[in-house]
Amino acid sequence: MDKTTDQDSFEYFRQLMRDFSRDRDWEQFHDPKSLLLALVGEIGELAELFQWLPADQAKGLASKPELHQRVEEEIGDIVLYLVRLADVLDVNLGQATMSKFDSVVERFPTDSVKGQAPRKS
Ligand SMILES: [Mg+2]
Repeated sequence: MDKTTDQDSFEYFRQLMRDFSRDRDWEQFHDPKSLLLALVGEIGELAELFQWLPADQAKGLASKPELHQRVEEEIGDIVLYLVRLADVLDVNLGQATMSKFDSVVERFPTDSVKGQAPRKS
């Protein structure tokens, strides 16, 4: 897998959202607090789809077309707001994500955690 190419997809969406916002003169509304609240709202919309599904059936139910479509839409909303928030905060989302992933890999070595749920330490 090519890390650089995958990080570039964040850059692609960053530029799409930057252009989208500028073209509508919505940059004035895109302060970090407002974007964060919008992001949390979208996460809430995704959570609502799963709210009362039995945990052991959630994955199967979410694969059914109508729920799967709604899950896709909410995840798309979440990513777009996250990309926009990162841009406004001058965070390189690709680099930040890769850096965090690398630290998680180091923190949870395969041999010592395989098959065990992660724990806060
Ligand atoms: Mg939504």
